[in-house]
Amino acid sequence: MINKPLTNPCTRCGKERILLKQWIEEIPTFANKTQKVTRATNICPDPDCQRVVDLELEVQRKKREKVKTDRESKLQEAADKKKAIQDAIQS
Ligand SMILES: [Zn+2]
Repeated sequence: MINKPLTNPCTRCGKERILLKQWIEEIPTFANKTQKVTRATNICPDPDCQRVVDLELEVQRKKREKVKTDRESKLQEAADKKKAIQDAIQS
């Protein structure tokens, strides 16, 4: 891995983000092995800007969650329908 200088500009103001925290996470890979990955949280040096970024991320997260629950309920609905048909055939 080449250690080139990291640039991680803020998506809103373009200022170079600062490292808030960094940690090592073990993620499972195939064959019951784990791989260590470095995770980091970078924030904008401008607190007001970061607040807006956080809000936007929160909105996106909620949207994703809604999509996920919608999909899950649709799958559940389909499974229920399938079961109802099977029950009808068996009785
Ligand atoms: Zn910013």
